[in-house]
Amino acid sequence: MKQLKTEILHGIGIGEGCAVGKLRFVHTYAQKRDAKGQGIEQERARLRKATASVARSIANLQKTAEEEIGADAAEIFSIHAMLLEDEDLTQRMEDALADGASAEAAVEAARDALSQELIALDDPYLRARATDIKDVCNQLLSHLSGEKSQTEEIPSEPYILVSSDLTPSQTVGLDRDTLLGFVTFEGSPNSHTAILARAMGIPALVCTGKIREDYNGTVALLNAATGTLTLSPNDAEREDFIALCAKSTQISEERKRARHALAGKPAITGGGHRVLIYANVGGEEEVDAVIAGGADGIGLLRSEFLYLSLDRAPDEERLYQSYRAVAERMQGRRVVIRTLDIGADKQVSYLTLPREENPALGLRGVRLCLRERTLFCEQIRAILRASAHGKVALMLPMIVSVDEVRACRELINECMQALDGRRENYDKNLEVGIMIETPAAAILCRELAAEVDFFSVGTNDLLQYTLAADRQNPHVEALCRTGQEPVLRLIEAASRAIHEVGGWIGICGELAADLTLTQRFCDMRVDELSVSAPYLLELRERVLACQ
Ligand code: PEP
Ligand code: MG
Repeated sequence: MKQLKTEILHGIGIGEGCAVGKLRFVHTYAQKRDAKGQGIEQERARLRKATASVARSIANLQKTAEEEIGADAAEIFSIHAMLLEDEDLTQRMEDALADGASAEAAVEAARDALSQELIALDDPYLRARATDIKDVCNQLLSHLSGEKSQTEEIPSEPYILVSSDLTPSQTVGLDRDTLLGFVTFEGSPNSHTAILARAMGIPALVCTGKIREDYNGTVALLNAATGTLTLSPNDAEREDFIALCAKSTQISEERKRARHALAGKPAITGGGHRVLIYANVGGEEEVDAVIAGGADGIGLLRSEFLYLSLDRAPDEERLYQSYRAVAERMQGRRVVIRTLDIGADKQVSYLTLPREENPALGLRGVRLCLRERTLFCEQIRAILRASAHGKVALMLPMIVSVDEVRACRELINECMQALDGRRENYDKNLEVGIMIETPAAAILCRELAAEVDFFSVGTNDLLQYTLAADRQNPHVEALCRTGQEPVLRLIEAASRAIHEVGGWIGICGELAADLTLTQRFCDMRVDELSVSAPYLLELRERVLACQ
């Protein structure tokens, strides 16, 4: 490979680590699913290619299932193979292409229309085919997005992933064994992808602007602390960088060891205010790091990450097992499980959510759950059952009104009755809290305090909704970094109002980890700060140094 010119690119660093390795470009063209096609012939050819790939992968799956599970279990794959060629489905896609749709939009339109029609039928056999139609179409979408083929191309040697952007579900699915770090042209530090990278301890750089694909396969130096990516460095630059990384890793390891002594120490300011130091997690696999970081509890379990990592919704039992494991391992320390916050940037194809112009302002969090009650109640029952094995609390996201809380409470009561009927154990006094992540919730917190047991401020969304600045949009991400004052005043006012009525307030958005704000949060007398596991000890140390 010819030596390319050395270039230094700047972006926003996530975490503090560094990485040296070959760049691998992964195309995620279809993530945004452009509705308009590039011309019927081109879109038709893309669809044909994706159909052939899906047919091959179904045939492979069928063969494996026959060999490993038996012919009966493999039957579903012959149904999928038939559906892939179903005339009704293919004709609908062709009609959409003829109307100028992209291949992705054509698949989505056909999938949604046909599955809705099947769901409305009386015949249970045909109704059940709706799920298969969705499954087959989602496989087509996955192949169209190139994710699959690109993933297959990724070699086993360690690499730095480069992409225009990554969705949270793609980030969850990244193979940690070979991934050194990632770089995205777009993205923002408040996105869920960045949050995941911090929690997973993966060095990353977002908002770099486009990188020329000539650099695919060349070596690069990623420094998250300085927010730089050096493309195609010479040998001396590479060696200097490796030495610098080794030194900063050694310093950070020494600091970590020194802070370890603080793990069990209550975080009390010089003025005598105690702040509980809690952790934000995406699932059970992060609990070891939470315990090692000496957390007083888990302030936010983002339950949607489990949904994002699967290709169908987990059922009550699966959820219960996962929540129970976390509750048991936390040994009596509080675990706040946030109910499903799907929507906006966190999409799962199996739920076939309607296409929305402004998904961040649409059917997200409790809004979706109050519509999809079966899905919601399965989760509530799982949380209730887990509460028999530890100190579990339930938290509702995206609240804007008292009515929403009451509607959720009604469902929680119904779920309790259902469990009583099944003679299942649960905590009858389960604490129910809400997120303050909309200005409406901050303004209404006095009234809301009469309905709930606790509050937790989601500053990531509170910033985007207060500043009218999309947290995913790289063009306005600077607003979220520099325009925090109105949000801090909202938190201050909310904290005062909540404490006046004897309530409890924590902060679990990314601002909780901003050590330049810790004194201010202590002055507001917040009761808890919840951060990703790598930041727990540093935060405890900072609170102890506050006045
Ligand atoms: C927040 O909005 O600050 C929050 C904690 O929730 P999420 O980042 O998952 O939207
Ligand atoms: Mg949020």
